[in-house]
Amino acid sequence: MTDVALRAADLRHLLADYSYRYYVLSQPAVSDAEYDHLYNELVSLEQTYPELITPDSPTQRAGNDLSEDFPKVRHAAPILSLSNAFSAGDLQAWEDRNLRLLPSGTQLHYVLEPKLDGLTIVITYENGVLVQAATRGNGETGDVVTPNVRTIRAVPLRIPANPNGPEAPERLVVRGEVLFLKKDFEAVNQKQADAGFPAYVNARNTASGSLKQKDSRLTAARPLTAFIYQVVDISGKTLDSQWDNLRYLKELGFQTSPDAGYFPTLSDVIQQIPTWENRRNTLDFEIDGVVIKVDDLKVTRELGVVGKDPRGAIAYKFPAQEASTHLLDVVVTVGRTGKIVPNARLEPVFIGGVTVSNATLHNYDIVQALDIRIGDRVIVKRAGDVIPNVIGVMTVERDGSERPILPPERCPYCDTPIIRPEGAVDYYCPNTQCPERIYRQLEFFVSRSGLDIEGFGGQTVKALLDKGLLHDEADIFSLTAAPLLELDKFAEKKVNNLLAAIEAAKSRPLSQVITALGIEGVGSTIAVDLADHFNSMSALQAATPALLEEVDGIGGILAQNIFDWFQDSEHLNVLEKLHAAGVNMQNTAREMAGDTLTGKTIVLTGTLPTLSREEATTLIESHGGKVTGSVSKKTDYVLVGDSPGSKAEKAAKLGVSILSEADLFALLSAASSEP
Ligand code: NAD
Repeated sequence: MTDVALRAADLRHLLADYSYRYYVLSQPAVSDAEYDHLYNELVSLEQTYPELITPDSPTQRAGNDLSEDFPKVRHAAPILSLSNAFSAGDLQAWEDRNLRLLPSGTQLHYVLEPKLDGLTIVITYENGVLVQAATRGNGETGDVVTPNVRTIRAVPLRIPANPNGPEAPERLVVRGEVLFLKKDFEAVNQKQADAGFPAYVNARNTASGSLKQKDSRLTAARPLTAFIYQVVDISGKTLDSQWDNLRYLKELGFQTSPDAGYFPTLSDVIQQIPTWENRRNTLDFEIDGVVIKVDDLKVTRELGVVGKDPRGAIAYKFPAQEASTHLLDVVVTVGRTGKIVPNARLEPVFIGGVTVSNATLHNYDIVQALDIRIGDRVIVKRAGDVIPNVIGVMTVERDGSERPILPPERCPYCDTPIIRPEGAVDYYCPNTQCPERIYRQLEFFVSRSGLDIEGFGGQTVKALLDKGLLHDEADIFSLTAAPLLELDKFAEKKVNNLLAAIEAAKSRPLSQVITALGIEGVGSTIAVDLADHFNSMSALQAATPALLEEVDGIGGILAQNIFDWFQDSEHLNVLEKLHAAGVNMQNTAREMAGDTLTGKTIVLTGTLPTLSREEATTLIESHGGKVTGSVSKKTDYVLVGDSPGSKAEKAAKLGVSILSEADLFALLSAASSEP
């Protein structure tokens, strides 16, 4: 064999192995970007040397998810894959190629749909009743998973599910995507955590694993959903437009993607793509690109298929959010609550425009479940503003020199034996005097999320701890100029500013003081509720778990946590010192700047251009508004900044008004300039 033929054969083998792990085992061995890279290498080899194409080449056959666990069914029509584009140029070349195959003067119009990151499902209805559901399988034949699909609420068991919908055809075969909504995947992981099981790291693989359960009760326990996007086969009717297809599916009562659009030309489509990349993180579901389909299905049929891909549609894939790199080492950090977190030190790798050299490994259960070892080539994901995390291992690349990652027996900072409370996923350093815990708590106390003392950062905390000038939070308020002037890079002006900032921090609202204490589970929203309910630190300190549970949003575990915190003599000592230093311990009536927002509930999401979260909250509250954590029908406005979370999307869905920071300013100043 020539070198080229050998390489092509190697690639075929490698890709087949990766596909098996991805589709059948739902445990990918490489990142999608790496798979695509090897795949594209094979495509270009086969384009130059067509004699190398074999019928079993992955370019000729869709990835195969068939397993031995299910009966098989032949699909009504081939369940095809999609070719990929990575740039506007690729899309233009795709259109040019198509136009060359079509009669001259043909005008192409397009439908743009999100490329949902789940797995294909093919569902058959006879006389309106769901009779069968199958996976894509090898594109010709699929695994029958009917009982499992019946458990998915978004899939109608009978159509029309919409009472005003059209009459169901005698036979209808539809295709769609099964996946978790982001919030449902988070809920699955919350349940795992509550039960003391490791979290799942990859939503697509978990969805795939959930759908391919032999026992449908296990599938039923997973909140999967499905979006339907194609009519594969229909009796007594021909649908000649993809856009009409989507409308028809919706009228029948299927869940279709709410975000699809019709565009008259390819340049209209191309203009949409940057918007999609920006919206990616705000959607309710994960997407890995968009799919562009020729709207006229007669033209699509005429264009036919190349290999396993229809010519009439293409996937535009977003820049990867995943990449692989070497796990050089694991560094253990101890948080302010004592929680021990293993962190990966990585060979620097470029993902989504940023160089990543650290990522979280979450906890030792996940390390064990994924069998991650030091020296492994690992798959790292960085999505939106989430901390990069390791989601998989390329076990195929092991050479035997890899070392297992075990939890430390003792805290690396204070040598206390670490513990794992019953039912907890995490290990903890139980020593409240652990220098690292103290440092992390002080760092939090002075930070923007705590008392927001400007000019007081982690390094200053460290320097003061080293000099023995700081032992607890209250010591901050007895700092004087002389020892501060001895610190590196601390001149008179800086010291004066810092002392002024410390003085100002004494009169922070009670809620902010409560947050700064760093009680596990008490973030700024809960702290506001606690402050409003109890009105003073002393009343909060005296509250029993039962009284604490009376506060909205506080359950039994959190109530006990808060109660326990106030039983600790060290904590009480610090509180007393803070009180003596003049730190505010009362819920003083807020100074009202206006009443424009009286009775209005506002949710914040994303990073605002000028205001911090705390500042925005104070501004809203000082105009009579209330800031809450989650969007519901009762929310009046969602204040949206950069990289917003799914809250913005939810607001749009519920029809809640969206404000930018500038809109908020305009609203408040318009009201104050009214006669
Ligand atoms: P694909 O994921 O590139 O695109 C086709 C699929 O997109 C369809 O099968 C369908 O399930 C899905 N899809 C989502 N929304 C859609 C919509 N609106 N309209 C039509 N289809 C829609 O192709 P594929 O053949 O399913 O998978 C190949 C890809 O899978 C590779 O490019 C790679 O990223 C990944 N993969 C990864 C590994 C790995 O080891 N990491 C192995 C095999 C495959």
